[in-house]
Amino acid sequence: MTLTLHDTLTREKRPFVPVNPARVTMYVCGPTVYGYAHIGNARPVVVFDVLFRVLRHFYGADAVVYARNVTDVDDKINAKAAAEGVDIRVITDRFFAAYEQDMAALGALTPTVQPRATEHIDAMVEQIGALVDRGAAYAAEGHVLFDTQAFADYGQLSGRPLEDMVAGARVEVAPYKRHPGDFVLWKPSKVNEPVWQSPWGPGRPGWHIECSAMIAARLGLPIDIHGGGVDLTFPHHENELAQGRCAHDIPVYAHYWMHNGFLDLSGEKMSKSLGNVVIPHDLLATVPGEVLRWALLSAHYRAPLDWTPDLLDQSRRALDRLYGALQRVKDVAFTPVDPPAALVEALADDLNTPRAYAELFALARTLETAPPEGKAEAKALLLAGAQLLGFLAADPDAWFAGGADDTLKAQVEALLVARAAARAAKDWPAADAIRKELDALGVVVLDGAQGATWRRKDGA
Ligand SMILES: [Zn+2]
Repeated sequence: MTLTLHDTLTREKRPFVPVNPARVTMYVCGPTVYGYAHIGNARPVVVFDVLFRVLRHFYGADAVVYARNVTDVDDKINAKAAAEGVDIRVITDRFFAAYEQDMAALGALTPTVQPRATEHIDAMVEQIGALVDRGAAYAAEGHVLFDTQAFADYGQLSGRPLEDMVAGARVEVAPYKRHPGDFVLWKPSKVNEPVWQSPWGPGRPGWHIECSAMIAARLGLPIDIHGGGVDLTFPHHENELAQGRCAHDIPVYAHYWMHNGFLDLSGEKMSKSLGNVVIPHDLLATVPGEVLRWALLSAHYRAPLDWTPDLLDQSRRALDRLYGALQRVKDVAFTPVDPPAALVEALADDLNTPRAYAELFALARTLETAPPEGKAEAKALLLAGAQLLGFLAADPDAWFAGGADDTLKAQVEALLVARAAARAAKDWPAADAIRKELDALGVVVLDGAQGATWRRKDGA
């Protein structure tokens, strides 16, 4: 089976061929840790988590090196630290811890390495030095700038020719820039900002150099896959590519550039100014992380994803169906198997998650209709397929109980028995009254062919 991936740079889908199958490298731009991540930031996390799982399936768990950086020096971090009167590390440690916790709740595996920018300043200074030496960067007024005119391929990734950037420059161009498109590699720190020493004077790195320097230091160039949200294509990835290629004098920086589409909120772009920012950290108080993960992967990763209240309901129902199928065979022992070919094929086709979802439902149907002697294998196949996508790891009973204690569980089970008896006796008013009682306990009754089951309402 061939894994095919879409590459933003060549604008084509083609078979994935790693440079070294024994060490497949992937880098994804990570969070700037000054606040809680919004739901748009969570999309690449789960998308590239699925790719990480697929790569491990194809090449072996030990053969894939996945790096996701932590931007822990930045204007917003500095501002927040100054406002609280603390060191930037206090802010970045706090929000990085929250980020790790929230992304784990979304079922994302921990990347192999999570390099922090402040721990790689030497690598950045070294890469900037190489750029200056090769004539691709210049120092001016305490700054070091990348010389975009020195790199003929600048603009290739985003499809924006350098000339267009001049015409489109709306902001006033700093007088020390040779070209309006030139961008900062190193800049002087303002008063009370963190500062590091460099051959061009004390200061701090620009944002773009962080990723290319850490990739060179931790993964080695070129890498197999570079990922991120489509909004990073320009300028961030365009600049990373320019830096990496020029500093190391190499024709390729990343063999595959992968970008996930935007996330829109009920048809609107999510933004602070519109006041419609959705924060997983808050949502997770009432919605299981697995439901958020299902919603985030419900569209193909390159398509825009419309985030609506309805999407969360649909995702909850989809998982209830799958967990329901598992709950009915909870006592069936099974031997783990490899994920089914049809599902792997769907994911190998440029991570076609909607098709993989259809395969999961087909596997659940097979499980439901299997004769008793076929249940164990059908269960094993459903679980193996789900695991490749990062789903169905919970115990089905626990999934539906949603943290209910034993007293509540016993109470609910007794009420369901009483309700079944009332319905059998066609005593509809009594059955209705019991249902209302269950509702008041924060319980949703799920009627099915094999009788009624229940689940706790989210946030109850
Ligand atoms: Zn980056």
